[in-house]
Amino acid sequence: MKVIQIDKNDWNRGIDASRKAYHLFGPVTDNNQSMFKQLAPDQYPDMEKPDTIMSPKSVLFPQTEKLLGATLDPTAENHHIMERPETDYSPRAVIGIRPYDARAVALVKLNFDTPEYRDPYWCDAYAATTFVGLAVNQPSVTDFSTAMGSGPFAEEGLDALLVDAGDLYLAKVLTPKGEAFFSAAGFDTVADTDESLEKIEQLKNKAETAMGPLAVFTDKLAQKSILDLHGAPFWEDLAFTCINCGTCTFVCPTCWCFDIQDETKGNSAARFRNWDTCMSPLFTKHGSGHNPRGEKTQRVRQRFMHKLKYFLDKYDSGTMCVGCGRCVEKCPVNIDIRQVCNKMNSYEPQK
Ligand code: SF4
Ligand code: SF4
Repeated sequence: MKVIQIDKNDWNRGIDASRKAYHLFGPVTDNNQSMFKQLAPDQYPDMEKPDTIMSPKSVLFPQTEKLLGATLDPTAENHHIMERPETDYSPRAVIGIRPYDARAVALVKLNFDTPEYRDPYWCDAYAATTFVGLAVNQPSVTDFSTAMGSGPFAEEGLDALLVDAGDLYLAKVLTPKGEAFFSAAGFDTVADTDESLEKIEQLKNKAETAMGPLAVFTDKLAQKSILDLHGAPFWEDLAFTCINCGTCTFVCPTCWCFDIQDETKGNSAARFRNWDTCMSPLFTKHGSGHNPRGEKTQRVRQRFMHKLKYFLDKYDSGTMCVGCGRCVEKCPVNIDIRQVCNKMNSYEPQK
């Protein structure tokens, strides 16, 4: 394990150097809100405000993405033939991604890059991306990542992990992609490994202690029957207050629902995919008019069953929730996935 030491006074110089080899994405403040965005040529990642409202999932899965295009001009060669547009997949680096969001990328990969089906758009973007994480020294009160297979200093899905150690960053280099990024940035001061790892361990323990014991349990979910959980009485109560706004799904780093839309303008035709939400009644409405999840209760149940049961059963890689806490914080009616998770985990059907 190599640890690089980065003097914070040298940070912006390294970021500028890395721009020659990478398109950079990072947390920036926009309209008083912290967001992940592609950095403008004179913009630096705001490492003091990396807890963004939206996760960086749009770097791999844009909110609107053109999948195919065609010309409708009958005189043009290949008219009406849908083709994949040229997209820039040159190297990009996401700076300051939180460990729970990096785990989310690893979970989403299970769905977008399977032996049977490979989403070329997501996979090409993933292959082009280097993830330079920032450990969470001071977890927020809604962060329950340690209960969901991640944690403030977790490394899964990352190419490097930066740890804020006061006047400097200690950077754990985790993959060749991480090594290449630091090389491009000119960050090459190798730290005393034992001393640095000890310092990182101290900060990690401090962060985990600050989170306290997390009363969120997932240990019995795998052995529960889908049918029993499906028929549980608590879904009605839970759905009662939900207004189906979809906020929880848009802010979630692991939600990937989308729809496909065809558009024409003049002689141009295009097929787009757009983020959608399982909380919307239109999402599952069939062309016939039938809607298998026309009732709000069905949609609320679907969201939690997918995250906490179906995904777990299908991939055996934990739940599809990484405990980032965004939905807990942003739900306008205070629906809290931690409580739902515990209800599901402890549910015993009446015989
Ligand atoms: S954010 Fe809350 S109210 Fe909105 S759809 Fe999600 S659970 Fe329902
Ligand atoms: S379900 Fe909520 S807490 Fe879990 S990963 Fe999604 S937004 Fe974060």
